[in-house]
Amino acid sequence: MFSLRTFLSHNAVAFLACALIPSFVFAQEPMSREIWKAGDMSVTTIQDVSNEMAASIFKGPASEKEKERYFTDGKAKAGVNVFLLRAGGKVVLFDTGNGARSQGKTLEQLGGLGVKPEDVDFVLLTHLHTDHIGGLLREGQRVFPKAKLMISKPELESWMALAEKDPSNGNAALVKTTVAAYGADILPPFSFGDTLQPGVVALDAIGHTPGHTMFQLTADGKSLLIIGDLIHATPLQFALPDEYAVYDMDPPQAVSTRKRVLELAAQKKIPIAGMHLPFVGAGMVEKDGKGWKFERMK
Ligand SMILES: [Zn+2]
Repeated sequence: MFSLRTFLSHNAVAFLACALIPSFVFAQEPMSREIWKAGDMSVTTIQDVSNEMAASIFKGPASEKEKERYFTDGKAKAGVNVFLLRAGGKVVLFDTGNGARSQGKTLEQLGGLGVKPEDVDFVLLTHLHTDHIGGLLREGQRVFPKAKLMISKPELESWMALAEKDPSNGNAALVKTTVAAYGADILPPFSFGDTLQPGVVALDAIGHTPGHTMFQLTADGKSLLIIGDLIHATPLQFALPDEYAVYDMDPPQAVSTRKRVLELAAQKKIPIAGMHLPFVGAGMVEKDGKGWKFERMK
């Protein structure tokens, strides 16, 4: 017979296990889904981890009261996503998530999709924060033995300079170790406007970091924008795009880039895919009053 007491005692172990997991990361079933197809291109979202963004990390002109309605108990559902592009026999990853050290599930999910680490030909990086490059190394070794890495010039240069200037900066140190591990497979850094793969163009999305990049994929007259970290909290930053995350290194620039890109996506009806949009990590943007709204892909 069911009683609250037996329920609690049976679930005490599970309860304790949950309490040991950092509150921002949840144990989860691996999740991946194809989100876009055009010509010979196919893009799949891989959720590295699911997480939540706390209201307290967002700053800007809105009052606490105004912000409140975009959060539940002070949190917004998010995630860390990686995007897998298969096109013309090539395997391309956009970012790599946290990596195994932070319970990232990217490798496991790639395996489930029939992609082995040695199958990855290119990794295109939106920027070099740890939750985007963490998956490149495991215990200091390359995870993707054949992959070539593509990074924007201002992004690579600024992090390498910081690693020299401030060796105590953990993120910059990870960039330096990663660059050393991939050696000659770090391709000469690209400039905004460059075509990196057939149908894949790198575009300026600076502000979050000095060389933050978005990628426009185009085939058969259809496009997809992979926007990196232009959005951390959905729907807050669609409705109130002036709100920025404390992770944004140049807040005014991050805000103006966000508005420019949301305007572009809404006007041209280009779907967006984002590294911290809640799973499935992609959808459409529509103008809504002074801001925008996000229609998550079902
Ligand atoms: Zn990020």
